[in-house]
Amino acid sequence: MSTPNSEPEAGTNAAETSTPVASNFIRDIILEDIKNNKNGGRVHTRFPPEPNGYLHVGHAKSININFGFAQEFGGKCNLRFDDTNPSKEETEYVDSIIEDVHWLGGDWEGRMFYASDYFDQLFEWAVQMIKDGKAYVCDLNAEQVRQTRGNYSEPGQDSPYRNRSVEENLDLFMRMKNGEFPDGSRTLRAKIDMAAPNLNFRDPVMYRILHEHHHRTGDKWCIYPMYDYAHGQSDSIEGITHSICTLEFEDHRPLYDWYVEQLGIHHPQQIEFDRLSLTYTLLSKRKLLKLVQEKFVTGWDDPRMPTISGMRRRGYTPEAIRNFCKRIGVSKTPGIIELGLLEYFLREDLNKRADRVMAVLNPLKVIIDNYPEGQVEMMDAVNNPEDASKGSRQVPFSRELYIEQDDFREVPPKGYYRLSPGKEVRLRYGYLVTCTSVVKDADGNVTEVHCSYDPATRGGNTPDGRKVKSTIHWVSASQAIEAEVRIYDNLFKVEDPNQVPEGEEFTVNLNPNSLQLVPNAKLEPFLSNAKPGDRVQFERLGYFCVDKESAPEHLVFNRTVALRDTWAKVEKKSK
Ligand code: ATP
Ligand code: MG
Repeated sequence: MSTPNSEPEAGTNAAETSTPVASNFIRDIILEDIKNNKNGGRVHTRFPPEPNGYLHVGHAKSININFGFAQEFGGKCNLRFDDTNPSKEETEYVDSIIEDVHWLGGDWEGRMFYASDYFDQLFEWAVQMIKDGKAYVCDLNAEQVRQTRGNYSEPGQDSPYRNRSVEENLDLFMRMKNGEFPDGSRTLRAKIDMAAPNLNFRDPVMYRILHEHHHRTGDKWCIYPMYDYAHGQSDSIEGITHSICTLEFEDHRPLYDWYVEQLGIHHPQQIEFDRLSLTYTLLSKRKLLKLVQEKFVTGWDDPRMPTISGMRRRGYTPEAIRNFCKRIGVSKTPGIIELGLLEYFLREDLNKRADRVMAVLNPLKVIIDNYPEGQVEMMDAVNNPEDASKGSRQVPFSRELYIEQDDFREVPPKGYYRLSPGKEVRLRYGYLVTCTSVVKDADGNVTEVHCSYDPATRGGNTPDGRKVKSTIHWVSASQAIEAEVRIYDNLFKVEDPNQVPEGEEFTVNLNPNSLQLVPNAKLEPFLSNAKPGDRVQFERLGYFCVDKESAPEHLVFNRTVALRDTWAKVEKKSK
């Protein structure tokens, strides 16, 4: 105990040893709002995906923030589909988003909405704005609107249709709605200021004509609200208090504020944070869609994709993704996060939950000449040294085994301590064996390694205390089961796949070795009951997850992530 006069010992100070909740500028804003009883102290957020693709790990960051703050402050978080663009949206995407948000632990408690639920209300508000002289029908086409918009240094030009009478505007808007005009021939625009320094204020388009079928409203509408007109009002309708979104919407905030002020409706507060960017990864739905459509990957849930469904199939856990999101926090400046950090949280979580088993990917036959033919011993193997409650299992040991080809060298390089002629190694949970001779094929490749074992070393113990430098994994040949193993690597071979040489496409950055197939890996029989979604560690090789295509007669494992260091280091050393 320290007396009031003594120096506190390093590390014993309560403030140092307790883990404080990481500070976060959004949390600070929410805390301040609660303190001031803004919105009656309510916290109500939403996650607003556009159903035009599958969710990716960037969305996980947003999900974690929105659902996380709702939970932290006893508030609510809605799931809302921002489905204002009928041409790109599909029910398949809606279904996948529901599944993914749920899997990540987001609970919307039945509050699942669609921007399209509000189309009638948004239309009425547009009519009100026309009546108030704050919106007009413009006959310029998209190109002309762009050309008259000006730029950062020059003001835009007023549309020649800007001063139409309220009656004419109302008539034309009704006729737009009734389908009298072709796509793109007219728009409804807010009447704000063509010289505004913020370009979003230069009479932004509120409605465009699109004779397209909508996944929910069918053919009811042939005019659709622009995202910028729909988004803020949708938040307002739902009583959202904190509209948390990514930084690219910062310049749009004044416009969202303007609409809700003109309409005199509930005013949510928008707060922007930095999008997640990861090395070796692309997080743009448009680009991911291209990879799917042009078959660079097998689908949205290809285990190499940074989509939530791809990561789930690869073997990621929701906990690993959530812990990663917590760790990266939020900020106001864009940055790039190392993919390795995400993998760190993945390993950390899998280390606790995945059983450790033995599998041989590139088999080399080992024959133990002094082991009785036909004898099979069941060896005790610990399932997870991190978790005693996982217990142990029995692994068969016999005269003929498989080891990894990499675990044998006829001529060992310097520093190679695994099996080689005359050397002794420990077979994990088995015995100590010494290589006595090899058999080669006509090309000189080693096809069989002959060994002798020491019966006194059962379980890998050395009663005489002698040391062996290497412990290797193995599978008993006659009991081995076979599996296809898919070894995944980064989908892109460069740190920033957005950096593309002149005239090329981002697909030039794809890693040609992102998938390597091992058709006939040998596994211990314990794995014969493995079910899709099961996760294991193959000792010394990495974490693996049973693929959705796996069946008892054809097991398929995906490599989730390699074990850090071990394999790579050993490989490097042996080269
Ligand atoms: P993309 O650019 O991949 O198409 P998006 O922003 O258009 O993404 P939305 O469906 O509109 O995708 O996104 C839903 C929510 O997720 C939005 O609030 C958006 O800001 C957020 N979000 C999207 N991408 C990221 C990211 N990389 N990091 C953090 N949040 C993101
Ligand atoms: Mg978007």
